[in-house]
Amino acid sequence: MKNRIKYSVLIFVISIYVQSLAVEKSNSHAPNFIIIFADDMGYGDIGVFGHPTIKTPSLDRLAFEGQKWTNFYVAASVCTPSRAGLLTGRLPIRSGMCSEKRRVLFPDSNGGLPEKEITMATALKEAGYATACIGKWHLGHHPQYLPTSHGFDYYFGIPYSNDMDRVGGGNYWEACSNPEIDYFNVPLMRNNEIVERPVNQITITKRYTEEAVKFIHQNKEKPFFIYLAHSMPHVPLFRSEEFENKSLRGIYGDVIEELDWSVGELIKTLKVTGLEKNTIVVFTSDNGPWLEFKTDGGSAGLLSGGKGGTYEGGMREPTIFWCPEIIKPGVIAELGTTMDLLPTFLKLANVSLPSDRVYDGFNIYPVLSGKGESPRDVVFYYRGTEVYAVRKGEFKAHFITQAEYGSDVKRFHDPPLLFNLNIDPSEKFNVANNHPEVIDAINQTLEQHLKTIIPVENQLEK
Ligand code: MG
Repeated sequence: MKNRIKYSVLIFVISIYVQSLAVEKSNSHAPNFIIIFADDMGYGDIGVFGHPTIKTPSLDRLAFEGQKWTNFYVAASVCTPSRAGLLTGRLPIRSGMCSEKRRVLFPDSNGGLPEKEITMATALKEAGYATACIGKWHLGHHPQYLPTSHGFDYYFGIPYSNDMDRVGGGNYWEACSNPEIDYFNVPLMRNNEIVERPVNQITITKRYTEEAVKFIHQNKEKPFFIYLAHSMPHVPLFRSEEFENKSLRGIYGDVIEELDWSVGELIKTLKVTGLEKNTIVVFTSDNGPWLEFKTDGGSAGLLSGGKGGTYEGGMREPTIFWCPEIIKPGVIAELGTTMDLLPTFLKLANVSLPSDRVYDGFNIYPVLSGKGESPRDVVFYYRGTEVYAVRKGEFKAHFITQAEYGSDVKRFHDPPLLFNLNIDPSEKFNVANNHPEVIDAINQTLEQHLKTIIPVENQLEK
C-alpha cells in the first residue's frame, strides 16, 4: 500500500514536471518579429486607409484584428535615410546617412551604414534570434555595408532601388513609365553573391514572399526576425502574371494587390506553423507616394505632398501592428515612428538598449498592449541634414518648405506655418497667428534637439 502511494506521488510529480516543460516550451522564447516595409506606398493606398478601388483584404483584416496607426511616421521622406532610421532607431543625421547633395545611395556610391551602428538585427541576433533581410536594402552595396555585415544571417534581394543601373528604354521617365526588365540592370543577391542580373522584376514580389515563408518554416523552433522590404511599388512597376490587369486602379493597384496577397501568405504560414500567437507583424512604407509619376505613383489620401517632402504625405505612413495575443485591437491616433520599433522590440526580446549613443525611438509597447500611452510627443521632419518642420502634440510648425523635387528654392517661414494636424490633417489652414505660445514651445524643443546632434562623416557623399 505504502509503495503504491509512493508510486502515485512519483507519477504525479513527474507528470507536473512534464507539463511544466511543455508550458515552458510553448512560451520558451520572446516574440518573433516581421517588419513588412513597402517602398513608396502612400497613406491612402490600401483599403482600410481609404482607397476606394485597391482591394487589400489581408491588410484590412490585419488592421481589424490588430492596431491601425493613423499618426505613424518614418525618419525621412526618401529611401536610404528612412531605412537607416528604422534599422538603427536613430535619426539618419546621427549615422551620416542623409545629405544635401545626394538624397539616397546610388550604384556609384562608396558609403553605407557605418559598422559602428547597431541595427535591430545585430541586437536581436546577439539575443539568439535568427535574422533575415529579404528585399531592398539601400544602405550600402559594398560588402562591409550589406545586411550580412549588419546582423542578418541571411540576405536575399536587390541591394538598392529597382530603377537604378538603367541601360535602356530612352530617358529615365520613359524607361520607368513603359518598363522592360532589361532596361534596369539591377542585381539580385543571395547573401553576398549576385545570383541574377538584371533581376526579373516580374516575379520579385512572389520570390521575396517565398523566401520569407521558407525562413519562417526553417526557424519555427527559435525566435526570428524578418525584415521584408519589398521593392514595390517603387517604379518601374512590375507584378506577377496572376495579378496583371486585375485591379480597377490599373497597374499600381495590381502591384499593391500582389503585396496584399504576400501579406496573406505570411499570415497563413504563421497559422500553419502555430506561430501566430507569438509573432508581431508590422506593415508600413518607407516614404510617401512618388507624385511625379502620376498614376504610376501612389496616393497620400487626404494628406498633402508626397515622397521627398516634409508635408504629411511624404512621411506619415499607413501602419498596422498585428499579433492577436499581444496587441490590443484598435485605431491608434497617438504618435509613433519607425524609429520606435527598435526600442520596442528589444524590450520585448529582453535586450537592453545600448547606453553609449542617442536614440530617437521610444518603447511603444504600452500602446500596443493597450496598457498605456505613447511616450512620443514630438516628430522631426528632416530633409537631408536640415529640420524643415517639427510636430509637437497636435501642432506642426513648418520652418522651411520646398517642392519635393525639381528646382524649387527653399522658402523660410518666420513665424513658421502652423497647422493643427488633428483638426486639419491636410495642412490647409495656417493658425500661426492664434498660437504664439505653441510656436515658442516648438522653438524650444527644436533648440534642445539640435544640441544633441554631433557631426559625423557623411556616407552619401563618399
Ligand atoms: Mg522609398
